[in-house]
Amino acid sequence: MILIVVEHANGKVSKSTWEIVTASRELAHQKGGDTSITALVLGGGEGSNIAPIAAEIARATDQVLVADLPALAQYDPELWSAAVAQIATEGEASVILIGASRSGREYSPRVAIKLDAPLLEDVISLKASSDTLTAQRYTYLARVTETIEATSPIAVVTIKPGIYTPATPRTESAEQFDVDLNLPTPRLKVTGKNIERSSRVGLTEADIVVSGGRGVGSAEGFTQYVEALADHLGAAVGATRAIVDAGWRPYAEQVGQTGKTVQPKTYIAIGISGAVQHLSGMNKSKTIVAINRDAEAPIFKIADYGIVGDVSQLVPAILTELKK
Ligand SMILES: Cc1cc2nc3c(=O)[nH]c(=O)nc-3n(C[C@H](O)[C@H](O)[C@H](O)COP(=O)(O)OP(=O)(O)OC[C@H]3O[C@@H](n4cnc5c(N)ncnc54)[C@H](O)[C@@H]3O)c2cc1C
Repeated sequence: MILIVVEHANGKVSKSTWEIVTASRELAHQKGGDTSITALVLGGGEGSNIAPIAAEIARATDQVLVADLPALAQYDPELWSAAVAQIATEGEASVILIGASRSGREYSPRVAIKLDAPLLEDVISLKASSDTLTAQRYTYLARVTETIEATSPIAVVTIKPGIYTPATPRTESAEQFDVDLNLPTPRLKVTGKNIERSSRVGLTEADIVVSGGRGVGSAEGFTQYVEALADHLGAAVGATRAIVDAGWRPYAEQVGQTGKTVQPKTYIAIGISGAVQHLSGMNKSKTIVAINRDAEAPIFKIADYGIVGDVSQLVPAILTELKK
């Protein structure tokens, strides 16, 4: 059995989980036989919105296990790892797939320790043979792609977001089962949450990403051109490492080998040269639009639409047209 742990937010299955479904399907195919895919949904408590999440993921896996328990109302690494390890043991899972999100990176090592299993972290590809699981991952600031092999009856794997194409749900639904868990007493409590009021969608979840590079001129130029266009299109905002290093933008917005990997329907690159390290984080975008004053800029080699010209003239003109 391949066990996938469903990540969800605001009553919806996260994009990273749909990506994990793709990884699990490829793996099940390679393992052959009757390898099944089980989704585990954790959550609960007052006003729990677990039911629609379970129904959504039931359209992608062979069975869904639902732990709708008040103790799981809030993410807690100790509880999450206990729950996943328990289900993996009971279901005799051979692979446990977890998103390499902040929480996934936090609780997955605990799961591996509980199961005495190897942990393959932040992987970008996975291959299964009869007795080996082979994974690739970036290392040394993404200058090296490492291949690792796990030879054990069970392995815990975290998948780097934005690498696999999100799976498409089927029309038919798999069966759902409620599970009870033997959970430890919580020792951690979230005592406050300060939510940043941003109307923007998350970078790895967005259908449209507008990214800026050194060509926007300054931090103010980024706001004036990139943020203005992104807000008009309801898009997420991305940045190159050059301008993150310059302190114009936060690291959370960096796209590329040492930043986030994105795969939106449309990626608009403004004043970005197209260095390989940037391209590797966005080259799977469906449609790429590039604006650069240098017609020879490498970004134009992968762009579907290219506009040669100055950012300070082109972006305001595009915005004026869009507003019409
Ligand atoms: C180990 C390693 C990891 C890295 N990881 C990443 C990563 O994750 N992400 C990343 O982005 N980079 C990464 N880099 C850095 C990468 O190599 C490039 O240096 C960086 O992407 C360049 O950013 P840029 O395109 O903003 O700047 P530049 O390369 O300086 O390009 C600026 C572009 O703007 C154009 N331009 C200038 N003025 C205007 C104007 N007025 N109008 C229109 N166009 C204009 C120029 O023609 C140029 O093409 C990494 C490098 C290393 C060594």
